[in-house]
Amino acid sequence: MLSPLIGNHKKINLHGELHHVCSQLPTWHKCLGHMSEQAFRQLTDNMKDFPRVKIPKSTPICPGCAQGKMASKPFPDSQSRATANFELIHSDLKELPTISYHKYKYFIIFVDDRSGSMFTFNLHQNPTPS
Ligand SMILES: [Zn+2]
Repeated sequence: MLSPLIGNHKKINLHGELHHVCSQLPTWHKCLGHMSEQAFRQLTDNMKDFPRVKIPKSTPICPGCAQGKMASKPFPDSQSRATANFELIHSDLKELPTISYHKYKYFIIFVDDRSGSMFTFNLHQNPTPS
């Protein structure tokens, strides 16, 4: 069992070790994969010894959640298709949120318009110009 909060962000366990505990809902929201407020309330109500977290009556809009719910497509749907393989190739370059274990920072996707075949390649960060 955990001991009561000391100050706002510190807690001492049974072994006398000091731990930092966050009591801010936005931080928990980000740490728990952008969990909904309703799910978070269920978690805190049903989990023994979960740290006390103040849930304000109105919470600010999370930019990550708002962006994830956007339904608009970046381009309008095409009404025509290529008539031969590799006649028309679509590509997109994306940055990974963190550099991978093998030091990849980007990946590029190529999609053949006719067949729908997709090819991906991982890319390292560009070398800095000297
Ligand atoms: Zn969020």
